[in-house]
Amino acid sequence: MPETSPNDGKGRLGPLGLEQILALLVRNGLLQEPDALSLRDKAPLQRRRLQRERQAAGTTDIPITWAELVASFQQPAVGSGRITETRIQQAVAEAAGLPYIAVDPLRVDPKLVSDTVSFAYARRNRILPLAVKDGRMTLAVDDPYSRDVIVTMTNRAGMPLDVVVSAASDIQQVLDEVFRFRASVRGAVAELGDGATDFGNLEQLVQLTAGTNVEGDDRHVVHAVDFLMRYALEQRASDLHIEPKRDSSHVRLRIDGVLHKVQELPKVVHRAVVSRIKTMARLDIAEKRRPQDGRIKLAHHDLEVELRISTLPTAFGEKVVTRFFDPQVLFQSLDQLGLFPTELEYFNSFIRRPNGLILVTGPTGSGKTTTLYSGLRAVASPTVNVCTIEDPIEMVVDAFNQTAVNTRLGLTFDSLLRTLLRQDPDVIMVGEVRDGETARNAIQAALTGHLVFATVHTNDAPSTIGRMIDLGAEPFMLASTLVGVVAQRLIRRVCMSCRQEGELSAEQATALGLQLAKDERFPVFEGVGCAKCRGTGLKGRIGVFEVMPVNEKLKKQITEGADAGEMARQAVRDGMLTLRQAAIKKLALGLTSFDEVLRVTADSDY
Ligand SMILES: [Zn+2]
Repeated sequence: MPETSPNDGKGRLGPLGLEQILALLVRNGLLQEPDALSLRDKAPLQRRRLQRERQAAGTTDIPITWAELVASFQQPAVGSGRITETRIQQAVAEAAGLPYIAVDPLRVDPKLVSDTVSFAYARRNRILPLAVKDGRMTLAVDDPYSRDVIVTMTNRAGMPLDVVVSAASDIQQVLDEVFRFRASVRGAVAELGDGATDFGNLEQLVQLTAGTNVEGDDRHVVHAVDFLMRYALEQRASDLHIEPKRDSSHVRLRIDGVLHKVQELPKVVHRAVVSRIKTMARLDIAEKRRPQDGRIKLAHHDLEVELRISTLPTAFGEKVVTRFFDPQVLFQSLDQLGLFPTELEYFNSFIRRPNGLILVTGPTGSGKTTTLYSGLRAVASPTVNVCTIEDPIEMVVDAFNQTAVNTRLGLTFDSLLRTLLRQDPDVIMVGEVRDGETARNAIQAALTGHLVFATVHTNDAPSTIGRMIDLGAEPFMLASTLVGVVAQRLIRRVCMSCRQEGELSAEQATALGLQLAKDERFPVFEGVGCAKCRGTGLKGRIGVFEVMPVNEKLKKQITEGADAGEMARQAVRDGMLTLRQAAIKKLALGLTSFDEVLRVTADSDY
């Protein structure tokens, strides 16, 4: 292995090469020398593979860096974890005596970036201006040894640079966001004028978008809205908020349950963007003082995504919220929901029954709809009539016959269920059981040969039975029809790009009700924050389940009126994992964090 300082042999410093990176990793104790040699030999083949991926994705203008290539092997690191781009860049920063910075997309100044560099140059050289302070510019680079780039950037900035090291993929992601979005917004501002009260142009724009020809002079607004919607989908956002403030407009996304501010729009663009969205949703553009709601269908990756639009007048103008019903999120195959193998087997046995009642429970936003849709889709076939009663219909599915509750028209869960039973259904889904009539009719339907899925609002599986009886279900009838109960929560996943191993402290173990032996280690993972997870350390969500099959012992307890605590103890004796136990199991697997386990199981009694 050669020297670790990048040296071209003539005493000049040159850019980081593969050999230097591997030598650095060996020196830092992350990689064994023989493994380094083997990675070096495999590098040319791997490079061709990555090139083919770039070609397929149409991103050949993004250079493949050596750090990316080495990280793509997913080589286990000595000690723990894998060799990731972040760990490589941390080693590079340390060797160069520079700070490593996890780029936070929310702290990036888009204007500084686009005023300082061109997209092509920044992309090719993997640089990102972060800040200007006291006559110095902070510049993030992935390779601090690229002297040419640093000299060029010093000249361009016209001031001294403070160089920091970041991961190339983080830099590329931020550049992409900054330049693609700003191009659309700049176009719109140039067209509409920068004045916040440019009504002449605004009225013109409103008329244009109201017409059929939306590809006209307002194409920048069309592009900006299109970009925003697609960007929200790519970020797996559930909601997109466009909120007018006094001088500008804030764009925020709800990702994995948390709001993130992603952009700020000039005020004049806000009105145009709102008009565009209202046009797409076929709302009344002229009506600005009353709330309106509508729907948009958007084609995305060969799938039709349903968007629900809601407008609300606020002090500074109309606020628009777009809610995304992404079929990829709503429809997951059963084995992707997050059930452990035993629980998955139970759930599959529930839905394969010809008749009976399956109850799914959990608070709003706990992923119940996804579980129900996935279960229904698994049983739907040309020979099976699947009917649903929902409030509202979250996703239109061809394979189901879906009906929406409409209390104004007298269409309640109960009345619709009675009507539905005359429609020769095989499988019925009742969106929510919240009154005695619906509870009794759901049980009746299960007794008369139907498979009934229903949701109830309770904290856990055992207390669902008490809730049904409180609503007016006959205990004996419930015991003879109930097949199983599933309680669930959505837990946020640790970001796989920046997770680092740690250990559960004694206090944390106690908080979770765990008793660790004196020298027992409980390894856990926490995300430190990177561009991919927007600095949160968490990315994506997965279900945590408490699956309670109703066996003979439980049936007896239900009939005898046992309380939830007794039934919970019986179910646990029979092998049920409680929500908290299931969440702790996910923690032990490195899928989620301690804080998340505590958060989602805060209201668990068992
Ligand atoms: Zn991350």
